[in-house]
Amino acid sequence: MTVKQLQEEILNLKNQNDVIILAHYYQPIEIQEIADYVGDSLGLSRTAKEKASTEYIIFAGVDFMAETASIINQDKHVLIPNYESCCPMAAFLTPEMVREFKREYPGLPVVVYVNSTAAVKAESDICCTSANAVKIVENISQEFNVEAVLFGPDANLADYAEQFSNIETIKMPDKGHCYVHSQITVDDIKTVREKYPKAKLLVHPECIRIVRELADYVGSTARMYNYAKESSPEVNEFIIGTEIGLLERMAQDFPDKNFYLAKNKLVCYNMKKHNLELIRYLLENLNDKAFEVKVPSEIAKRAIKPIEKMLNFS
Ligand code: SF4
Repeated sequence: MTVKQLQEEILNLKNQNDVIILAHYYQPIEIQEIADYVGDSLGLSRTAKEKASTEYIIFAGVDFMAETASIINQDKHVLIPNYESCCPMAAFLTPEMVREFKREYPGLPVVVYVNSTAAVKAESDICCTSANAVKIVENISQEFNVEAVLFGPDANLADYAEQFSNIETIKMPDKGHCYVHSQITVDDIKTVREKYPKAKLLVHPECIRIVRELADYVGSTARMYNYAKESSPEVNEFIIGTEIGLLERMAQDFPDKNFYLAKNKLVCYNMKKHNLELIRYLLENLNDKAFEVKVPSEIAKRAIKPIEKMLNFS
């Protein structure tokens, strides 16, 4: 069976069932093509909250994203095509570690990146994404009337938020990172810039600071997408410093522009654990509990507050 035929089968099954498919920009392009909504963490959180009126949500993303969708849609069934799709960055921070940091720094608000487990979110005051981290740090520090916040698990995003908010971010832990973004080096940028001297360099805030400082634009996946979309016609070459899925999406949506990866193999293997066959299986077995993501209600009740606070702030 060809990819096209499989996609058609999936779309037919989807139309016969009360289901919506959400996919992150880092998903394989053939999954993005059959999704009802494609976006970054913030966009998908909003969509899950505001637009998912169906009984079932199939979430093609990593586990914390499906958990977030489940927390804000307690009455719905959130299904993940492959439950081994986890984010290694989220594993850098445990709820015990957050409690320890809170004991060490009493009175400071806890900001956690949405790339964290539900149990960690439950320990926080507010969540953030790469799109709103600076604004969230500014707002929460004002609310608590402090000059520093606790921030985890990504030390690079924490550094980025500190750089542009002028509020100190105490990293929980100081080495939390994304293996995809943090592998981009200054030498990689020099090499790719030499090859494509006219291209604009767009990188993600999860990159290390010295790489961010070489970029023409630093932003979340959705913002990079919009940057390329809104660029004038003469700006038609872009070097992309994030996961390859976004590049594939942009290349498809903007055929008149050229996109190059900042380095080879910018692949999140955890995101790529889903495939069309697994999605078809789910559509044929919507009540298979093995694929349902359900956060224990005691944790969900506490985790929903920082998520909603973020959505209200941004
Ligand atoms: S790209 Fe990085 S932060 Fe995103 S899911 Fe993969 S490992 Fe986690």
